[in-house]
Amino acid sequence: MKLQELPMEFEEALPLLEKIKRAGFEAYFVGGSVRDVLLGRPIHDVDIATSSYPEETKAIFERTVDVGIEHGTVLVLENDREYEMTTFRTEDVYVDYRRPSSVSFVRSLKEDLKRRDFTINAFALNDNRQVIDLFDGLNDLKNGLLRAVGVASERFNEDALRIMRGIRFSASLHFEIEDKTLAAMSECAPLLDEISVERRFIECDKLLMAPHWSKGLHYLIATKAYNYLPGFSETATKWLAFQEQIDNDYQFLSSEQAWAGVVIVLGIKEVKSFLKQWKTSQQFQKTVLQMVTVFQERKQSPLTHWQVYQYGKDLIKQVESLREAFGLAPEYERLRQLDQSLPIHSKQEIVVNGGDLIALLGMTPGPALGDCLYQVEQAIVKGALPNDKAAILAFVEQIL
Ligand code: ATP
Ligand code: MG
Repeated sequence: MKLQELPMEFEEALPLLEKIKRAGFEAYFVGGSVRDVLLGRPIHDVDIATSSYPEETKAIFERTVDVGIEHGTVLVLENDREYEMTTFRTEDVYVDYRRPSSVSFVRSLKEDLKRRDFTINAFALNDNRQVIDLFDGLNDLKNGLLRAVGVASERFNEDALRIMRGIRFSASLHFEIEDKTLAAMSECAPLLDEISVERRFIECDKLLMAPHWSKGLHYLIATKAYNYLPGFSETATKWLAFQEQIDNDYQFLSSEQAWAGVVIVLGIKEVKSFLKQWKTSQQFQKTVLQMVTVFQERKQSPLTHWQVYQYGKDLIKQVESLREAFGLAPEYERLRQLDQSLPIHSKQEIVVNGGDLIALLGMTPGPALGDCLYQVEQAIVKGALPNDKAAILAFVEQIL
């Protein structure tokens, strides 16, 4: 199949392919960007595969950076852009033990495409706009099917992350998983335990953020892959509840919001330790916990000045949106009004500080002083106390 026209990103990169060819090697566009062009979707990164070995690639281009030479990848800087140029290679685990792994580089495009995960990810596109489709990926693309390249169970045995990638692609592309591929995913799911938590998190997160996350969840349940994800074992009925409780067309606004949804529906009590198992950052854990907290508080009562002050308008907006996804009424207008009428936005704006209370009222540093300041802060935010020196001192004297 020959493409009529190429997107601008590929047009710009064509001279690179031609340059490699002039040096006597082969070069193609490969990977997700070719798939996305064929689907008429925007592309994010232009990946190039070449028969030239890394040292040879480096000799062809003026400006290069070694980013993953051991995997055959050289970053080429041209047109103010970066292009990943990767030497054709075979599946890493196939490497003959008598030879060092660096010689898994090969000169054959076919060998390179064979090691790729799904047929729709195994296209190559040459500088003549010709699509090279060795595994009938065009047919699968047309039929909306995800099919492993080669024998599915072998492919998932080589790298179980592919199971999560497949489930994630079903959610982003709204594709069905072909029967044998699906059966092999189920069979190999226990191997997910061997994949690093970080890599599993990335795929799970992409799944939740995908437009058709509900389809991804369907396959997560069907393959029982959830059993091999931290904190998710035996949660099939809860995942079904997730699909039932959250509008399936809802598009999560951020990873934090999506994971807050997960925590809420799955009824996870120890939010931070659950997210710690997933090796997420402290900041991520904190934000998710705040969203869950506001969501639960909102079940009992309308939004308050104190919530808006504590967590900020943007975070609460996401909670209100999540409520909508659950079919609960949001309070966007009230949020806007509360935010606009906040007397202060941070502690620093209070006209009296700890030093003042010590100097003027003879208080001593310690927990009591901190508690006093906290009460002042709350009273000001709630509108019960003006942010005025005399009023605050009188308020504190009364507490004392
Ligand atoms: P995305 O749109 O998320 O970037 P992608 O298909 O481009 O999707 P990448 O992780 O960027 O995914 O990988 C680029 C290409 O490398 C894939 O299209 C696929 O051909 C190959 N690939 C990536 N990861 C694997 C894997 N675990 N096993 C086999 N092939 C893989
Ligand atoms: Mg990609």
